Order: sequence, then structure tokens, then C-alpha cells
Amino acid sequence: MSLDGRVALVTGASRGIGKAIALRFAEAGADLACADVVYGSASEPGRDATAEGVRSAGRKALCIPCDVVQYEQVKAAVEGTLREFGRVDILVNNAGIARDRLILRMTDDDWEQVMHVNLKGAYHLIKAVARPMMKARYGRIINIASVVGISGQAGQANYAASKAGLIGLTRSVAKEFGGRGITCNAIAPGYIETDMTEDLSEEMRNQIVQNAPLQRLGHTDDVAGAALFLAGDDASYITGQVLVVDGGLTL
Ligand code: NDP
Repeated sequence: MSLDGRVALVTGASRGIGKAIALRFAEAGADLACADVVYGSASEPGRDATAEGVRSAGRKALCIPCDVVQYEQVKAAVEGTLREFGRVDILVNNAGIARDRLILRMTDDDWEQVMHVNLKGAYHLIKAVARPMMKARYGRIINIASVVGISGQAGQANYAASKAGLIGLTRSVAKEFGGRGITCNAIAPGYIETDMTEDLSEEMRNQIVQNAPLQRLGHTDDVAGAALFLAGDDASYITGQVLVVDGGLTL
């Protein structure tokens, strides 16, 4: 599955799933713009490490500090990508956060932060890449949702609602932009081993492993492989779909 000559913009590429996607795309021949939040001490070295990995794969990398919640920063990130590479073929809306709490204990801030980063952030990026993609009559948009956006999850009402919203956004974008050669799909991962899931209790881990037919938690590369498929030419007649990558957990 080749992405030779393609340019991809991946949000949240400093670590976890976003980093794995950026590196997998680079190995497949794409140049990368990695956009990450400006604040947060962790993101800068992470961004640099991702960029280094992209360059080691022989591709170009551009690191863009960008909080997806701020439309001006998102616009600047897309303009920077276009200035550097002249095009943006693939967008992966991967940046995401969780603020888990039962509804009775959830604050408005917990609700709003999660909705803003996970859902509004994706809307911002899609809006910013829409014109250049429409002009090129080509685009691949991939939104990283979650299985809990389909099934719901106690203690994750904000997160699940944001991911369910992302699936609705995916299908709407697929309908709105399909005529311009742009596909839009979502990936719904199950439990993938990253910083986001490092606090899972041993009991919860064992439960997931027991319940998933494939008997393990997911790796970031499991999601990266699915993203590579959706970004490539083999998926050119697939749009508006949700690809579940959960080892069969939600069967
Ligand atoms: P991580 O917490 O490991 O990484 C999240 C990434 O998002 C980081 O690079 C972070 O940057 C970035 N980010 C956070 N807020 C913003 C922001 N406002 N603007 C720009 N970038 C931001 O998460 P994962 O790799 O585990 O998750 C990636 C995606 O996959 C998320 O959307 C998540 O919801 C989804 N997902 C994950 C699952 C899992 O089990 N891990 C399961 C299902 C879905 P920084 O380093 O600066 O904090």
C-alpha cells in the first residue's frame, strides 16, 4: 500500500496512535506535517522524535505547534503545510483527550474540554483542508473515533458523545465532499496501549483480554495499519464508514 508522493497532515502525532500513523505513512512514501498542541511539556520532544522518524524513513517532516481547538492555529497549520509541500492529500484527525468521570461528578469543564478537542478540533481541521482538497479534487480524511462512540461507556459520557459526534461528522463530510473526490472515514479503536490507557487497572486489562476474541489489547500499529489502508488507493471507493479495530471486543 503505497502513499508515494502524498502529503499527510496528522494531529496529535507526538505520541501514541498519531505517532504510529505518521511513521507508517512515511514508510509508505508520504511527506508529513505533524500538528500538536502548543502547551504541554511532553509534546515538543515527542513532535521532534516523530519528525526524526519520518526523516529516517527518507521523507520530509514539518512540525507544527497547533492547538486544534483554536481555529486560527489550525488555519495557520494548514497554510504552513501548503507552503512547505504545495498540497495536503490526507488528513488524520487523531488528537484527542479523555476526562473520565461519572455524570453526577462531571464538571462542565470536563464536558467542554473533551468536546472541544475531540469533536470541534476535527471540524476545524476539516474546514481548513476542505478548499485545497476540493480544488485538487482529491482527499482522504480519517477521523479517529472509538468503539465507545458506538456502544457508550459508563464514566465516559463526554468522551463517548464526542466520538459518536465524530462518526456523525464523518458521514456528513462523506456526503458533502464525495462529489469532489474526497473520502471521509472513521476508525473506531478498542483498547490500544498508549499513555491514554496506561491507568487501566489490572482487573480491567484482564477483562478486556478475556472478552476480546483476539485475546490481547491493541497496539498502535494495529490502528496505523487500518489508517494506511483508508489513506491509500485501495480504499478509493470506501467512504462514510467506521472501521472497528478492537480485536473483536465489541462483537
Ligand atoms: P495519547 O494521549 O497518547 O496522545 C494524544 C495526542 O493528542 C498527543 O499527541 C497530544 O499532544 C494530542 N493532543 C491533545 N490535545 C490536543 C490539542 N488540543 N491540539 C492538538 N493536539 C492535541 O492518545 P492516544 O494515542 O491513545 O489516542 C489518539 C486518538 O485515538 C485519540 O483521539 C483517542 O481518543 C483515540 N482512541 C484511543 C484509544 C486508546 O485505547 N488509546 C481507543 C479509542 C480511541 P500532547 O503530546 O501535546 O499532549
